Amino acid sequence: MTSGWISPTIHIHAPDASLVEIVRRVCHDCSRRAYFTAIFTEWYGWDTTCLNCGRSWCDGEWMPLDFCRQSRQRSIDAAKRRWRNSRRKVNE
Ligand SMILES: [Zn+2]
Repeated sequence: MTSGWISPTIHIHAPDASLVEIVRRVCHDCSRRAYFTAIFTEWYGWDTTCLNCGRSWCDGEWMPLDFCRQSRQRSIDAAKRRWRNSRRKVNE
């Protein structure tokens, strides 16, 4: 019999994007016609973020914003950064 801890193995599944787009549609949060970053990854579906208000949807599910100052602007900046990085990888 062995004593001690069994260390858990954690796998984080983070596939690369397979499709990257900018789309224009009416946002359900700010009710304006706005541009969205749209990133598709297998198993997780479309991840879209409104570039007007920062609200995002993951595979159609409404995602909450962080509870901090400038969370909408941070969400917009993160969406732009992720879109640029994903676009670079898809085009390679
Ligand atoms: Zn919006």
